[in-house]
Amino acid sequence: MQLFDELKTISKKHIKANKKAGEKVPSGLWISCPKCQQSIYHKDLGKYKTCPNCYYGFRIHARERLEWLVDTFQEFDTDLETKDPLNFPGYKEKLIKAQQDSKLNDSVLTGIAMIDDVEFALGIMDPYFIMGSMGTVTGEKITRLFERATQKNLPVILFAASGGARMQEGISSLMQMSKISQAVKEHSNAGLLYITVITDPTTGGVTASFAMQGDIILSEPRALLGFAGKRVIEQTIHQKVPDDLQDAETVLKNGFIDNIIKREDQKEKLAWLVKIHSMKGAF
Ligand SMILES: [Zn+2]
Repeated sequence: MQLFDELKTISKKHIKANKKAGEKVPSGLWISCPKCQQSIYHKDLGKYKTCPNCYYGFRIHARERLEWLVDTFQEFDTDLETKDPLNFPGYKEKLIKAQQDSKLNDSVLTGIAMIDDVEFALGIMDPYFIMGSMGTVTGEKITRLFERATQKNLPVILFAASGGARMQEGISSLMQMSKISQAVKEHSNAGLLYITVITDPTTGGVTASFAMQGDIILSEPRALLGFAGKRVIEQTIHQKVPDDLQDAETVLKNGFIDNIIKREDQKEKLAWLVKIHSMKGAF
């Protein structure tokens, strides 16, 4: 019994240490789901890193998602480098650390992907690259992704994840919203399909632009989707708001997104969606 008590104490310690949403999937034996608080044995998260109880998708690097999402991938624009236009204190060091951790030049991975014989342009934002913030290189990479997709007559699938515009680049970050939106519009004018998949968390300028401009907007279960954070909303309207206000399930109920898609189903369902939308004149 003493051993059992000790194990329980260790588990509680792990759970307490990892309770905060957004922490990297910890390496301990037991972790707690930040959404349903279920204790999960580490190995039960599986390759998709999802909660077996509520299907919440833990935050993962863009390259980790790529491994199980597509069959082939040809990457674009790995040589673009973010400048430090404001000479923001500590920004260069932060960038280098984020680049080393994510193996990306900025907060989005872009390229052409295939699932079976279905080809599409793919963007995956990395929630760990300075909180998935949108800097000038993020904006440029996404804009070029849409421009290439328009040229090649390809649909776009974009996995959104962001804390918003990157404050270290000031107004240059905010300007990416209109630049990307222009490229999205040109892609749409060419009659091409754009699917967004919201992942945890998607907020700020990314929500206010390309994350919500998809023809089909999907979300992972329990992902947070909003513009301003809950605390900012409460301070502005001087009212408490429900805990699940910005959960994908609430947002779906209120009509802002089209459906919720589990990670294990994404490869098959996204390929199917692209396929049925490419059957022009078939019906
Ligand atoms: Zn859960």
